[in-house]
Amino acid sequence: MQKPILEVDGLKKYYDIKGGPLGRKVGEVKAVDDVSFMVMEGEILGIVGESGCGKSTTGKSILRLIEPTEGKVIFEDKDITNLKSEEMRKLRKDMQIIFQDPYASLNPRHTVEKIVGEPLLVHGMKSAKERQERVKELLEIVGLSPYHAKRYPHQFSGGQRQRIGIARALANNPKLIICDEPVSALDVSIQSQILNLMEELRDEFNLTYIFIAHDLSVVKHISDRIGVMYLGRMVELTDKDKLYDDPKHPYTQALLSAVPLPDPDLRKERLILTGDVPSPANPPSGCAFRTRCPHAMDICKEVRPEFYPVEDNHFVACHLYK
Ligand code: SF4
Repeated sequence: MQKPILEVDGLKKYYDIKGGPLGRKVGEVKAVDDVSFMVMEGEILGIVGESGCGKSTTGKSILRLIEPTEGKVIFEDKDITNLKSEEMRKLRKDMQIIFQDPYASLNPRHTVEKIVGEPLLVHGMKSAKERQERVKELLEIVGLSPYHAKRYPHQFSGGQRQRIGIARALANNPKLIICDEPVSALDVSIQSQILNLMEELRDEFNLTYIFIAHDLSVVKHISDRIGVMYLGRMVELTDKDKLYDDPKHPYTQALLSAVPLPDPDLRKERLILTGDVPSPANPPSGCAFRTRCPHAMDICKEVRPEFYPVEDNHFVACHLYK
């Protein structure tokens, strides 16, 4: 039986909206609003949703790159929510992040050797020679050549730059990597190469990933389980196959029916979403999806649906299943 490596319990991230001549708080944006889930050791948990649904904020709050407003993050049975910055810095050896735009996240004035070697130095590898050796090894692991170590980020293609970002994340043998839209900025032809590399690395180094993306086909390619977010909340979470074969939440159904499928027999009845995504500064009462849901009932306006299991390993936040 797999055990959880990460537990996220009631995570919230609210941002104050300030206004008026005195800059007082006049409201708040609920970027992440009471999100709970577990990630098992060695699994790839995909988190999918439209832009602004809170998936990246969730990832960054887990690593405390953004401080959560409320909730708990438990990593390897240890509550890390209130760890002091020095303790958190040590823990980041085990918890890494890969960003969407490798170019923006790599210092253009540093060589690859310095970029990939920096986390080694931060976590105590003082010998320059040892670092050089480890950087060469890491470059080979991600499919680059050791001679690339002396080059600068602008001398690489987008896919190669993402490989450098992956090498840097792998430097200190992490256990969990949060992948924040890691292939969204790449050409489709390069995306699958990077996804395949990430899968190989997961198997080779027994890694666990949280894989954040807006593209359903990318998430499907790589994930074991998938969580769907809407307006700061997780609305459905289950195995990849269950989610694609039998989506329960009306929002998931709408997202999936919009994915083009080559085989017309496999195409689901198209469920068109009407209306815009409401503002997270002023979300609808009750179920956040009710203003766009074709099945909305009176209760949906009044009561926020719980996120509960409708069947084994299949969580949904919707009154239709109570
Ligand atoms: Fe639709 Fe109501 Fe379910 Fe929300 S709770 S998704 S409004 S049926």
